[in-house]
Amino acid sequence: MPVDTHCPYCALQCGITLHPQAPAVRRDPAVRRDPAVRLEPADFPVNRGGLCAKGFTAAELLDHPDRLREPLVRTVPGDRSSPWRQASWDEALDRVVTAVRDSQRWYGNDSVGAFGGGGLTNEKAYTLGKFVRVALRSASIDYNGRFCMSSAATAVNRSLGVDRGLPFPLADVARARTVLLVGANPADVMPPSMQYLDAGRDAGARHIVVDPRRTATARGAYRHLRILPGTDLALANALMHIAIRENLIDSAYIAARTTGFAQVRAATNAYWPDRVERMTGVSAADMRETVRLLAAERPAMILTARGAEQHSNGTDTAQAWVNLALALGLVGRPASGYGTITGQGNGQGGREHGQKADQLPGYRMLTDPAARAHVAAVWGVDPDELPQPGPSAYEMLDRLGTDGGVRVLLVLASNIAVSAPHSTHVIDRLRALDMLVVSDFFLSETADLADVVLPTAQWAEEEGTMTNLEGRVIRRRRALDPPPGVRTDLEVLATLAHRLGRGHLFRADPRAVFDELRRASACGKADYAGISYERIDAEQGVFWPCPDEDHPGTPRLFTETFPTADGRARFHRVAHRDPAEMPDADFPYVLTTGRTMQQYQSGTQTRRVKALTVAAPEPRAQMHPDLARRHGIADGDLVELRSRRGRATLRARLDPGIRPDTVFAPFHWPGANALTDPALDPHSRMPAFKTCAVAVTLLTRR
Ligand code: SF4
Repeated sequence: MPVDTHCPYCALQCGITLHPQAPAVRRDPAVRRDPAVRLEPADFPVNRGGLCAKGFTAAELLDHPDRLREPLVRTVPGDRSSPWRQASWDEALDRVVTAVRDSQRWYGNDSVGAFGGGGLTNEKAYTLGKFVRVALRSASIDYNGRFCMSSAATAVNRSLGVDRGLPFPLADVARARTVLLVGANPADVMPPSMQYLDAGRDAGARHIVVDPRRTATARGAYRHLRILPGTDLALANALMHIAIRENLIDSAYIAARTTGFAQVRAATNAYWPDRVERMTGVSAADMRETVRLLAAERPAMILTARGAEQHSNGTDTAQAWVNLALALGLVGRPASGYGTITGQGNGQGGREHGQKADQLPGYRMLTDPAARAHVAAVWGVDPDELPQPGPSAYEMLDRLGTDGGVRVLLVLASNIAVSAPHSTHVIDRLRALDMLVVSDFFLSETADLADVVLPTAQWAEEEGTMTNLEGRVIRRRRALDPPPGVRTDLEVLATLAHRLGRGHLFRADPRAVFDELRRASACGKADYAGISYERIDAEQGVFWPCPDEDHPGTPRLFTETFPTADGRARFHRVAHRDPAEMPDADFPYVLTTGRTMQQYQSGTQTRRVKALTVAAPEPRAQMHPDLARRHGIADGDLVELRSRRGRATLRARLDPGIRPDTVFAPFHWPGANALTDPALDPHSRMPAFKTCAVAVTLLTRR
C-alpha cells in the first residue's frame, strides 16, 4: 500500500508518497541498490508536486550500506581509541546507565545532559525535554536550533508575542507584490518553495534580495542588494530612517496596534542613507527604492533567514526588520508581514516543545511558576523537582568535561563535531567527556567520537508529527519496519527512563506521546490541544494555535491582535554593532557560511547519497575573481582558509557575483566550522556563524 508522508530533510516538509517494494523485487541485501521504497512527489499543499534533488533521492537512506544496525561500544570501555564492536542493547544501555549514575553521584544531576536536534519529531523533542528534566533531573539540555533559529525567534517573541516562522501560509507569498528577502536563498535551499515567488513575479511582483552573494534567488530577483555581511541591522535602520523622512510609515496602524515607536524613531535618526551606504555597500538609491516599494506596492512582506540572523547581534538584526514591517503597517495584514524562513525539518516544532534550555512544552518558560505547575501536572511530577534553565548550546559544549560542566552527554539528531562553531574546540571538549552517547542511524563524525552508539529508526520507519515552516502540523507516517536491531528514539528514551526508575512516566508509542504533548501545550502559545492524528489526516495538516477540536486552526496570526499583555506589538530600538570579529591586516576577508542545493545540514545523510555526492562532491570556497587574482588563485585550485581558530582546505570556485571582500564556504562538510566564531548574541545565545575574519592562501594548483 502506498504511504503518504514527508521528506526527511528541510522545513518545507514536502509531501511524498512511498511505495514499499516487495522483497521479491529487491536484490540480495549485500549488493542491493534498489531502495526499500519507491518515492514520488505528492500533491501536498506546500510542494504541490514539486521536490528537490535531496527529496527525490531520500529513499536511498533507508537501506544504505552504512546504516547502523546494532549498538556499538568501544572494545575497551573508556578508551575511545579502541575499536568499535557490536553489542547487545542490554550491554549498551547498561554502560550508559552506569555512567549516568556514577556521574550524578559524584558531580551532581546537571553533570549529565543531552543535545537534541531540529530534525526530531515533535514527539521526540517533547520526550527528550521531559527525559532530561524528569528522568535525569538535570538542567543540561539544549539543541542545534540554538545555532539556527534562536535569534529570530527571540526577536519575534519579544516583539510580536509569539514565534511562528511564517505567520501565514506559504501560498500568501504568491499574492505579495513586494517581497524583501534578507539573507535567504530559497532557490537553492528549498527549490519547490520558489513556485510561490515565481507565481508572484509572473503576476508583476518585485522581489529584492539582500545577500553578499549573487545567489540563485538573487539572480531571479528584481533587485540584488549585495550587502557586507554583518551590516543588515544598519540597512534595516536606514530603511526605517527613509520611511520616516518620506512619511511612508503607517501612522494609524502604529497608533492602533503597537507601542514603543517613538524610541525607534529617535534611534534611527542617525542612519543617514549616505552613511549607511558606506557601511553596507548598498547604495542609497537602492535603499530608497526598496522602502518605497515596500510601502507603496502592497501587499508586501519581509522575509529573513540565517544570513541575517546568525550573528552576534542576530536578535537585534531580526528586530530591526520586524520594526520596519511594523512601521509600514504590514504585520497581520493579508499576504503581508514579517516572517523568518525556518531551515531544519522540524525547526519549528523542535523549538516549541521543551528541548530548549529555557523552555517547557507549548513555548512555556521554565522560570514561570504557572508554566511549571501546568507541565508538572501533565507529567505527574512535583513542580519543585523541575530544574531551572540550564546553559545554552554553545555554552554547554564549551564546558564539556570541566568542573561544573556536563560529563556524560547524550546526543540525538545532531552532528555537532561538524555543525558547531569553532568545531575543533568542540571536538576537544567532546573528547574530554567521561562518556559520549550518540543516537543516530549513520556513524556521523560525532558518533565516531562516542563511547556508545545507539542505532535508531529513520523517518519512514516510525510515526510522528512535524511542524513545518508555516506552523502546519503534519504527520510522518511509517512505510516499513526498521531493521532488526534498530530502535526508535522514543523506545530508547523510554527504556533509559525505565532503567533510571521513572519508566512509568514515559511512553514509546508516538500517538500516546502526542496526546500527552497536546495536554502539555494546552493554553500555551504554541497550543496543540485541538490537533489529533485524525485531524491531520483529514485536513492535510493543522496550523497551530488550535486550542480545541472544534477550532479550525490558525493559518494567519496577528490579524486582529498580538498575543502580548496589551494585545499590541512592541517596537524595540536597536543599534548597529560591528561583528565580534572584523577583518584586519592578518585576516583581511569576511568569511560567511551557508548551504548548497545538493546537501543538507552537516551532510550526515546527503553526503551518503550517490547522486547528490556526484553533483556536489566537495566543499568549494566561493570567492570573487579580483580576490583570487590578488593571491594567484585560479578556479579549482586548492586553497587554505585560515581564521584565528583554525584552518580549512577547500577548492576555490571563482564567482564575480560575490563581494570582493567576502569568502563563502558551505558548512555541509567538516572544515568550515573550524573557522567560525563562537561569539554569542547576548539575547538568544546564537553564535556568529555568518561573519568572521579569514586569510586566504593558495596551496596547490588544480
Ligand atoms: Fe525535502 Fe526540503 Fe527538498 Fe522539499 S525542499 S524535497 S522538504 S529538502
